[in-house]
Amino acid sequence: MSNRKNRLTSNFGSPVPNDQNSLTAGAQGPILMQDVHLLEKLAHFDRERIPERVVHAKGAGAYGFFEVTEDVTKYTKAKFLSKVGKKTDLFLRFSTVGGEKGSADAERDPRGFALKFYTEEGNYDMVGNNTPVFFIRDPLKFPDFIHTQKRNPVTNLKDPDMFWDFLSLTPESIHQVTILFSDRGTPRTYRNMNGYSSHTFKWYNAKGQHFWVKYHFKTEHKIKNFSGEEADQMKSRDPDHATRDLHEAIQRNEFPSWKLEMQIMTPEQAAGYRFDPFDITKVWPHGDVPPITIGRLVLDRNPENYFAEVEQSAFSPGNFVPGIAASPDKMLQGRLFSYHDTHRHRLGPNYHMLPVNSAKACNMKNYQRDGFMCFDNSGSGVPNYYPNSFGGPEPHQKSGEPDFEVSGIASRQEYAHPNDDFVQAGELYRTVMTDKDRDHLISNIVGHLGGARRRIQLRQTALFYKADPDYGRRVGRELKLDMKVVEKIAEMSQEERARITAEESSHQKKAKESTT
Ligand code: NDP
Repeated sequence: MSNRKNRLTSNFGSPVPNDQNSLTAGAQGPILMQDVHLLEKLAHFDRERIPERVVHAKGAGAYGFFEVTEDVTKYTKAKFLSKVGKKTDLFLRFSTVGGEKGSADAERDPRGFALKFYTEEGNYDMVGNNTPVFFIRDPLKFPDFIHTQKRNPVTNLKDPDMFWDFLSLTPESIHQVTILFSDRGTPRTYRNMNGYSSHTFKWYNAKGQHFWVKYHFKTEHKIKNFSGEEADQMKSRDPDHATRDLHEAIQRNEFPSWKLEMQIMTPEQAAGYRFDPFDITKVWPHGDVPPITIGRLVLDRNPENYFAEVEQSAFSPGNFVPGIAASPDKMLQGRLFSYHDTHRHRLGPNYHMLPVNSAKACNMKNYQRDGFMCFDNSGSGVPNYYPNSFGGPEPHQKSGEPDFEVSGIASRQEYAHPNDDFVQAGELYRTVMTDKDRDHLISNIVGHLGGARRRIQLRQTALFYKADPDYGRRVGRELKLDMKVVEKIAEMSQEERARITAEESSHQKKAKESTT
C-alpha cells in the first residue's frame, strides 16, 4: 500500500493499480489493448533516447558561478560584468567532439568548453574549446570536416584516410592539428585544461565604442595531459574517467576553477594588424595583445539528473547580451545559425523552456508561440502579434548593438594570406614546445597518420615540413617516407598538392620505389 503522496501514477496523474502484471484475458493472456498503463510505459520507454548531438555527443557538466575581479566597464556594458565582486550563476558543459555518446573521455580530440551565464539581461553563452584555434575558417567546410572525423559510410569504422585526406588538403588546419596531436589533445581531466573562445567577439561600452576580444579561461589546477600511451590505457580502464573526475571532485568540495583572461584589441589595432584578427586558425600572440585577468569561474554543484540537465543543455554562440556581439569571423557567423538549428532538430523548437536552458535571472517575453512541447502558458492572454495596443512586450532600442559599417564586394573570396597558415604552427613547434612535447607530438602523429595510405602521408608530412623542416623530417623519418618527395610536395601550390589523387602519382611511385 502506498501513501497518497508517494503513489505511482500515469503521466497524467491517475493512480496505477499494478506495476508487475499486465492486464490479460485469463492467466495466459493475451494482453488486452485496454492496459493503458502498459501502453504508456512501453511507448515512453521506446522514446527515451533523443538524437545524440551530431558533434560533442559525449559530455559532462556542472553548475557554478562567475565573479568579476577587474573593472571592464570601459570595454563592455554587459551588466553581469559591470562591477568588481559581482557574481553570476552559470552552467558549464565539457565534451569531446567527434566521438559518439558512449565513446571514451580519453580520446584524442578537442574538448568542448560551453558556458551558459544566467544573467539579468538574458542568457549569455560562450561556446568554446580547450584549444585557442580551429581546423577551418569557413563554415562551408564544417560538415565535410566533421564527416571525416566520423565513421566511414561503408565500413562503419573510423578511417585515417578520410581524416588525413581532408586535413592534408586543408593547410589552414595545420596549427590546430599540431595542438591536437600534442599531449594537449588528451587532457588528463576536464579540470586540467583551459577553455578558449577561439573566436574573436565584439565588446561595446555604454558610449558605443567597441573592442575586439578573445576569452581565455585558464585552469587554476595546472595543465595536465596524458601521453598517447596513458590515454590508450585510460580508454580501456575507464572510458568515463573525466566525467567521473568532475562529478567526484565537486562531491568532495574540491571545486574546479579557472581565471578569465581577456585579450582586447582596439578597432585601430585590428585594422592595421599583420594578419586577419578574425581568422580562427590563429591566436593573437600574447606579446602583441597581453591578456588581462578580469574574473574567476568556479564549479560548485553537480546536476541532479544527467539527462535533464546535461544531455538537454543546449548552447549557442548567438546568445548574446547587450555589450557583447559577433565579430566578422566567418566560422562564428556560421555557428550563429547552426547551433540554434541543431537544437531545434534535437530538442524541438521550445528547447529554451527546459529548466537548464531557460533564462532564469530575467523575464522571457516575446511573440513566438506554440510548437511541439510548448510547456509554458504560451503567452497566456497577451497578444500574439506586434504592434498591439493591449500592453504586449515592447522592444528596447537602447539595448541594441551600435550601428556598424560593412563594405566590400559580395563574392566567394578565398582567405587573403594563404602563406601565413604555417607560421604559428611552426612557432608552436619551435619555441613553445619542450623536447618532450615534440617527442610526444611526433609519436602521436605517426601512430595515427601511419594508418593512412602513402600518398596522403606524403601530402600531410609536406604540410608539417612547411610549418618547420625539422617537424616534417621527423614525421617523415618515422613513417619511412622519401624526404626528397616530401620536400617537392611542400614546394607545390595547394592546387598541385590536391592533384595527388587516387591515381598513383609519380611522387608516390618514387616514394614506393625508395622504400621497397
Ligand atoms: P606565449 O609564449 O606568450 O604563449 C604560449 C602559449 O602556448 C601559452 O598560452 C601556453 O599555454 C601555450 N602552450 C604551451 N604548450 C602548449 C602546447 N603543447 N600546445 C598548445 N599550446 C601550448 O606565445 P605566443 O602568444 O606568442 O604564442 C606562441 C604560440 O603559442 C602560438 O603560435 C600558439 O601556437 C600557442 N598558443 C598561444 C596562445 C595565445 O593566445 N597567444 C594560446 C595558446 C597557445 P599555458 O599558459 O596555458 O601553458
